[in-house]
Amino acid sequence: MEDGMNDKYTMVPSAPWRNDPRYAIVHHSGGNDIPIETVDRIHREERGWLGVAYQYWIRRDGTVEIGRHEGQVGSHAGPDFNARSIGICLTGNFQNDYPTDNQLDALLELLRDLTNRYPITPERILGHRDVRATKCPGNVLYEQLPDFRHVLTIDKPDSVSRDSYKIEALSVIERIEGDLAKLRATLTGDTDG
Ligand SMILES: [Zn+2]
Repeated sequence: MEDGMNDKYTMVPSAPWRNDPRYAIVHHSGGNDIPIETVDRIHREERGWLGVAYQYWIRRDGTVEIGRHEGQVGSHAGPDFNARSIGICLTGNFQNDYPTDNQLDALLELLRDLTNRYPITPERILGHRDVRATKCPGNVLYEQLPDFRHVLTIDKPDSVSRDSYKIEALSVIERIEGDLAKLRATLTGDTDG
């Protein structure tokens, strides 16, 4: 909700489920091209999570399926990042194989949308392995992420300078937010995906 959009309600932005996206974190599923409903059921029933770990799930044909609400803390990147990121998972295993062109096109459009709506600058588009000890999102997809950052930086030429201008203040804020995120993640009872 936008500030001042509705003053009848008291919003509580620090509630433990409240996501504050500042990063986009890219994953591969490591498996088959299954629908998000199946993943949601597995994550709930077999792992005991609140639901599918990610906010978005991109199928081989480029269909973007919606998982957790963007405003809900994910369960995909560990306590330092779950409450500060949007998790995007592409179906497949990209350690050696390539995503489909449709998947890459869909990923670019989704990242463009997210960078427009959140303080997710191109340099804050990360692979899972940037924040956790994992092979995810696979060597092939991971090596393509700089191209996505590059394209989105060209599209938004002022984003880098604007970000570097604010980087000092943000680093202090983020250190504090990191501690809060850990607390939130602990309170939700969700563990890492
Ligand atoms: Zn991952």
